[in-house]
Amino acid sequence: MTSQIQIKDKHFNLFLSEKEILDAIRQTAIKMEQDLKELQPLFICVLNGAFMFASDLLKLFDFPCEITFIRLKSYEGTQTDGRVKEVQGLIEKIENRHVVILEDIIDTGHTVARLKAYILSQQPASFRVASLLFKPGALLNDIQPDYAAIHIPNDFIVGYGLDYDGLGRNLRNIYKIKN
Ligand code: 5GP
Ligand code: MG
Repeated sequence: MTSQIQIKDKHFNLFLSEKEILDAIRQTAIKMEQDLKELQPLFICVLNGAFMFASDLLKLFDFPCEITFIRLKSYEGTQTDGRVKEVQGLIEKIENRHVVILEDIIDTGHTVARLKAYILSQQPASFRVASLLFKPGALLNDIQPDYAAIHIPNDFIVGYGLDYDGLGRNLRNIYKIKN
């Protein structure tokens, strides 16, 4: 297994192997099945980063469910954090559905907070968040993931769906930036 990689100007070290990632996802899937098996949840995968997580997780969710995809478009705005995010691509009716957001990573939590406000405005039956990765030390919002497969420190990572400047999403392992 490659233990060091370079993407553009940055060097990265192996941080989580494919096996470690899949083992953590398996544990998460077991918990999610217990909570959601009766609810026919609507899973919403947040593109682009969560595509690999959603794929591996949902192959392990062995009960009826629906799966859809959204994108969050960022643009400069007047909000305090300088970013406004517009939800794009959601056509499913959310009202009275048990909604589960699938995210690649929760860092400051701004993205999930924005998404939560939008989903709750559509009156779902329930709202949950599942994130492959969670950086508790970076959280600036009052949101906690219902399921967080792997807790990590505040370092920049790539691979398994996560990119650096558009590259690295196809890597099967997760790599951490070398300082
Ligand atoms: P938040 O809104 O929670 O600060 O950040 C969420 C988004 O920032 C993630 O969905 C992801 O796209 C990006 N992000 C946060 N931390 C990292 C990281 O360590 N590596 C990469 N590649 N993206 C990150
Ligand atoms: Mg993302």
